[in-house]
Amino acid sequence: MNKTNDTDKCIACSTCVVQCPVAEATSKFLGPRMLGPASERFRLLNKGEDDSLSYCSNCKNCDISCPQGVPVSNINMLARAELAKTHRPSFRDWVLAHGDVESRLANLFPHTLANIGMANPASKIILDKIGISKHADLPKFPAKNFFAMVKKLEQPENLKKTVALYPGCYIKNYVPEAGMDLVWLLNRAGYKVVSQEKFSCCGTPLYTNGFIAETKENVLRNHAIMAGYRKEGIPVLTMCPSCELMFKAEIPAFFPDLENEGRHLLNAEEFLMSCIESGELALPAGKHGASKKIIYHAPCHLRALGIGMPGLELLKKMDAAKILNANAGCCGISGTYGFKKEKYDIAMQIGANLFRTIDASNADVVATECGTCQVQITHGTKKRCMHPVSLLRAFVAGD
Ligand code: SF4
Ligand code: SF4
Repeated sequence: MNKTNDTDKCIACSTCVVQCPVAEATSKFLGPRMLGPASERFRLLNKGEDDSLSYCSNCKNCDISCPQGVPVSNINMLARAELAKTHRPSFRDWVLAHGDVESRLANLFPHTLANIGMANPASKIILDKIGISKHADLPKFPAKNFFAMVKKLEQPENLKKTVALYPGCYIKNYVPEAGMDLVWLLNRAGYKVVSQEKFSCCGTPLYTNGFIAETKENVLRNHAIMAGYRKEGIPVLTMCPSCELMFKAEIPAFFPDLENEGRHLLNAEEFLMSCIESGELALPAGKHGASKKIIYHAPCHLRALGIGMPGLELLKKMDAAKILNANAGCCGISGTYGFKKEKYDIAMQIGANLFRTIDASNADVVATECGTCQVQITHGTKKRCMHPVSLLRAFVAGD
């Protein structure tokens, strides 16, 4: 990223301001144009930082809408990382940035105990004291994580092709069933699925909370594993739009000195679409399973990738279901943002339009690829929310 050139591309049209959900929800936030390119000029002169920097949720709607291609959210995140050098991030931000550490700790206990430990009133008060909203529904720990589940799985021996899965924190630690559903579909399409426990968090929660040096350590570890697979001719897939955006766009922008390994990463839904189109994955003919109404939410980070909506396209392949596109903007959660005490109400206000749209649709289930969008949508609507891959698996299996 060339900060001076990127800043100078801004023509002050304010399109980003109109599209910024946080600027619409609160007057505490200066807005993308002022906080991004305009403030950057002052930062370049070491003129201090505006207090509202922490209010940018990194949802990327400014970047998506900017006609000049100004990377506003990255300008904000790099300013936050710079600020963190002199103002240490809070303990709360450390906790939210290190979900992987908490999962490892939680794995020391039975999952029901860990979940009760996180959700009981006393813990809620403690979490609230450190700045995590007592109203937020934090993600629940499953009985087994993805690697514990996949190790027990006997994949068919006759599979001739291999792909690797970068699971990201959400599949690894919170919704391993979605990863297992992908493995099941890929096995059926003739692919053995491999992965490695050594894969680290992609770094998105780290850099958004100011831990940019640690982000780079994770990137180096992940790149080394991915490069190993690439040398063996094994494609690496991801099911998480935020991880995909991190590898394909953020890492090259934040760490231009590193090899752009992320450009080889493949979107799992696009990969499944290609399996369907090539005939490798056969879909059941005619109607299967209960006829369902499914409403799809496109995560902001998927829209920022600019690859369309492969998850929605995948759902449309299921003739058993009626598929709606919610097209109702950001859900508000933006990773760890909506869990923060001072941001909780803002996040809920941002998500209100989406929640209303989902409620009005009378859909049986909500589909979205992003794990934290799933948590926020279930929190705001009480509806079940699943990864499109899991819904496709249920359709193919006739569940
Ligand atoms: S990333 Fe989202 S919250 Fe931050 S300035 Fe851009 S649109 Fe606003
Ligand atoms: S949309 Fe882009 S060019 Fe317009 S004000 Fe925002 S950053 Fe500047």
